[in-house]
Amino acid sequence: MNQYASRVLETLQKKYPDQKEFLQAATEILDSLSLLLDKHPEYENVALIERFVEPERIIMFRVSWVDDNGKVQVNNGYRVQYNSAIGPYKGGLRFHPSVNLSIIKFLGLEQILKNSLTGLPIGGGKGGSDFDPKGKSDAEIMRFCQAFMGELWRHIGPDTDVPAGDIGVGAREIGYLFGYYKKMVNAHLGTLTGRGLSYGGSLARKEATGFGLVYFVEEMLKCAAKDSFKGKTVVVSGSGNVAIYANQKATELGAKVVAMSDSNGYIYDKNGIDLKVIKQIKEVERKRIKEYLNYVPTAEYHEGCKGIWTVKCDVALPCATQNEIDLESAKALVANGVKAVGEGANMPSTIEAATYFQQNGILFAPAKAANAGGVATSALEMAQASQRIFWSFEEVDAKLHNIMVNIFHNVENAATKYGVPGNYIVGANLAGFEKVADAMMAYGIV
Ligand code: NDP
Repeated sequence: MNQYASRVLETLQKKYPDQKEFLQAATEILDSLSLLLDKHPEYENVALIERFVEPERIIMFRVSWVDDNGKVQVNNGYRVQYNSAIGPYKGGLRFHPSVNLSIIKFLGLEQILKNSLTGLPIGGGKGGSDFDPKGKSDAEIMRFCQAFMGELWRHIGPDTDVPAGDIGVGAREIGYLFGYYKKMVNAHLGTLTGRGLSYGGSLARKEATGFGLVYFVEEMLKCAAKDSFKGKTVVVSGSGNVAIYANQKATELGAKVVAMSDSNGYIYDKNGIDLKVIKQIKEVERKRIKEYLNYVPTAEYHEGCKGIWTVKCDVALPCATQNEIDLESAKALVANGVKAVGEGANMPSTIEAATYFQQNGILFAPAKAANAGGVATSALEMAQASQRIFWSFEEVDAKLHNIMVNIFHNVENAATKYGVPGNYIVGANLAGFEKVADAMMAYGIV
């Protein structure tokens, strides 16, 4: 690692010793940036990297709400407004009991570079709460969302900060959050994305992250291996928004998806997973994935989600959560002949796992490039909202496809330019950083 990058990392390690996920993301990014910092000594003179790794603003707040038994519950709320150099802060809200400042900062830092890679004018931010939506009634979800927005509304706006969904925040939660935001500001603004189609949402936003992931991996297979999804066996972890639509697009392109998971376990269906059943269980009934066996008794269910990486496949698409593939799982995938890994979730591979894939010649598509289709389509939703028009599904999907293909080539070119051809981790970090750095340099010290 370049000496300047290394000094910045050491300072972060001293200041935030408990922020494990944040330090993991910062280490990977600073390692990649080393190649560029060698060529730009002027960045150190203006402490560019010190400013890049610190959020412009962190908002932390109490969320008090009343459950169905009349008991008062208290959660923590967060919004990290990380970097607005190239556009308003943009990034999702995560509701999951594991949420803490480290997780929101890691997601926010990644988001800056991801948003830059889309080529659209959006800065980076992220937020959420340690609230657990699992097992809550609709009324409880609504009261929580209203209490959360009761504080957040004063910090966001269509030209300031535009949140969206993430783990635990889907169409239902965005509806409650937007409804309360609209009431508080007394205006119908495009301040949240992932909105329902009847109140300003964009066609193809729901599908965008999963579809975009598959478009990116298809382009990578085509350009780096003269190959495609056709005839491939695929494993997709998770069974949420990203996983479902990654499965759909991979299947449309001729692949067979044989395994999916949730946080309790995974299913294996050698005939190819019936996605209609998954949508019914997950999107309609909100039940556990093991219910799949009630519809398809010939499939298998295994407790524990980690075992999914022992299923033999050509392409692995981790679409659940951070650090779900560790070194042991990476070794199992490689031993079973995996050819490509495309990250749908944010940072699903540990640094050791990602390095192992690259050292073993596996085509590796890192999250900030491969899953950028969701936020890119959110930016298209913002554009439609500003113009008060709606584009057709086909129009949005074609723009998404084009954006993902462009991201792949920008990442590939950056990797080559900096002397590490085929290293898409470094390529993504550098291609994303260049534009943000240019804008920050233009502003002087702010
Ligand atoms: P969802 O809440 O729709 O689905 C998450 C899925 O992952 C569920 O199947 C969930 O299982 C599983 N999961 C969550 N936490 C864990 C865990 N700790 N261990 C194992 N499985 C877990 O979220 P999304 O599909 O929206 O997000 C998935 C990933 O994709 C996240 O990393 C997110 O940051 C990333 N992402 C999402 C985007 C989007 O547009 N939605 C955009 C870009 C990235 P269970 O139901 O049992 O909790």
